[in-house]
Amino acid sequence: MEIVKVKRKPKKAARTKSSRPDTFRFDYVDSIENPDVVDIKPTQKLFINGKFVQPKSGKYIKTINPATGKALSNVACANKADIDLAVKAARKAYDNVWSKMPGRQRARYIYRISRIFETRKKEFAVLETLDNGKPIKESRNVDIPLVAAHFFHTAGWADKLEYAVPGQKVKPVGVCGQIIPWNFPLMMAAWKIAPALAAGNTVVIKPSINTSLTLLMLAEVIQQADLPPGVVNVVTGSGSITGTKIVNHPGIDKIAFTGSTEIGKGLARAVANTNKKLTLELGGKSPMIVYEDAAIDQAIEGVINAIFFNQGHVCCAGSRLLLEESIEDMFIKKLKRRMKQLRVGNPLDKNTDIGAINSLQQLNAIKELVQAAKDEGCIYYEPPNIKLPKTGFFHAPCIFTNVAQGSAINQVEVFGPVLAVTTFRTPEEAIKRANDTTYGLAASVWSEKATKLHKTARALKAGVVWTNTYNKFDPASPFGGYKESGMGREGGLHGLYPYLEVVK
Ligand code: NAD
Repeated sequence: MEIVKVKRKPKKAARTKSSRPDTFRFDYVDSIENPDVVDIKPTQKLFINGKFVQPKSGKYIKTINPATGKALSNVACANKADIDLAVKAARKAYDNVWSKMPGRQRARYIYRISRIFETRKKEFAVLETLDNGKPIKESRNVDIPLVAAHFFHTAGWADKLEYAVPGQKVKPVGVCGQIIPWNFPLMMAAWKIAPALAAGNTVVIKPSINTSLTLLMLAEVIQQADLPPGVVNVVTGSGSITGTKIVNHPGIDKIAFTGSTEIGKGLARAVANTNKKLTLELGGKSPMIVYEDAAIDQAIEGVINAIFFNQGHVCCAGSRLLLEESIEDMFIKKLKRRMKQLRVGNPLDKNTDIGAINSLQQLNAIKELVQAAKDEGCIYYEPPNIKLPKTGFFHAPCIFTNVAQGSAINQVEVFGPVLAVTTFRTPEEAIKRANDTTYGLAASVWSEKATKLHKTARALKAGVVWTNTYNKFDPASPFGGYKESGMGREGGLHGLYPYLEVVK
């Protein structure tokens, strides 16, 4: 087994607290230091029927560390024969064991996953950062604690399903095909696996080919937790081969997809003539409305978090900033000053605020949209002091002003650290502009007046509306979108519904 050594960067002179504020403030903070080494298997296997197995396809795809551009691992590309085996194992586990097991016993297994996962959190944080490019402080302080919390919270539902739909008897759906993206690989896996298992379903799950490593490590945890074979199966591979085989497999009862709106629409068409259930968590172009009476410094921090967290690779990223006209100049000046303090670079450095863009393909897509906005006459700003690393895939945090409502930069999901700023004069205009999008995933409102916050929040067509904050996630709280941002919810009680069927 090859061991990839991650060299710790030489320590720089310590900064005083007051010289640089924390970039992002989250509720979950722990004290993990970057470990120096992490094990990465040069060739990965599939996880089927409780065992790590070579793919029948015999095919592998090379994956890359986006921060260096260098090879990280070879990930198996599962074909039809592999998916057949995974579905067969999931069906057997469903019929013979998992759907029959008392809820309290299923809960014990899920609690066990959460506990074992927590004992390996350092490894998971480093591997997620290497594979995805996200800053280590986000992996360790946000992704990893939220994954553990999600399993822990959802386990509690397994023996209380009779209260999930009051007055109705429920049963699980069956074998679930789950497909997830690359931006929060572990978190998206937890959001899918935990409710499915709690409700008594079994799972065939596929990560993005770019970021499969942490889900494979989670499969090790599932093995350690001694889950019955076949309850969770991890099949890696491309969307066009492995993904389509899952979607079209006749042995699968439900598809749960998180990814782009374009692929989601294709999936909806593919399952339209089948008995499969479908939930979709898709893209977004979420607005942030800042009124002139908002606490401005707090709103600036909120905007920085909303658009630059995880390099802007966030489905609910606050990518549209709507400023009340009277504060535009002052707000933009302060925002630019704050952006100069952001550190872009090595994601394994615990001081890094903005890490690597996940792939060259994504970097090029961002650059294309940025160039189109420049060509259209939108005014571009990136902090002049930020120097991007010479290797790997990086993009500077940037904002556009002089943006028309209909500009692509104000309408299309960029999925990068790019903010479009527009202005408004009245609350009615702000609401109209905020809702003027094909998406409806998230939104935020900033004001010191409670009535204004509530009135505006109620008028926004978004699955989640935050007031005077952004990016607050909790396993008990449902997450999901309206319009082209998807259908169905994940998290909390609502996240269980797609995995349950009411017994007639
Ligand atoms: P993507 O749609 O390209 O891929 C998502 C997953 O689908 C991957 O595993 C991919 O391999 C698979 N896939 C691709 N083509 C497929 C096909 N034809 N059949 C079956 N599977 C296929 O999305 P991405 O680039 O990985 O992720 C970014 C997108 O995900 C963004 O649009 C983002 O907004 C969205 N997202 C949404 C949420 C949410 O909760 N709403 C959360 C995270 C990401």
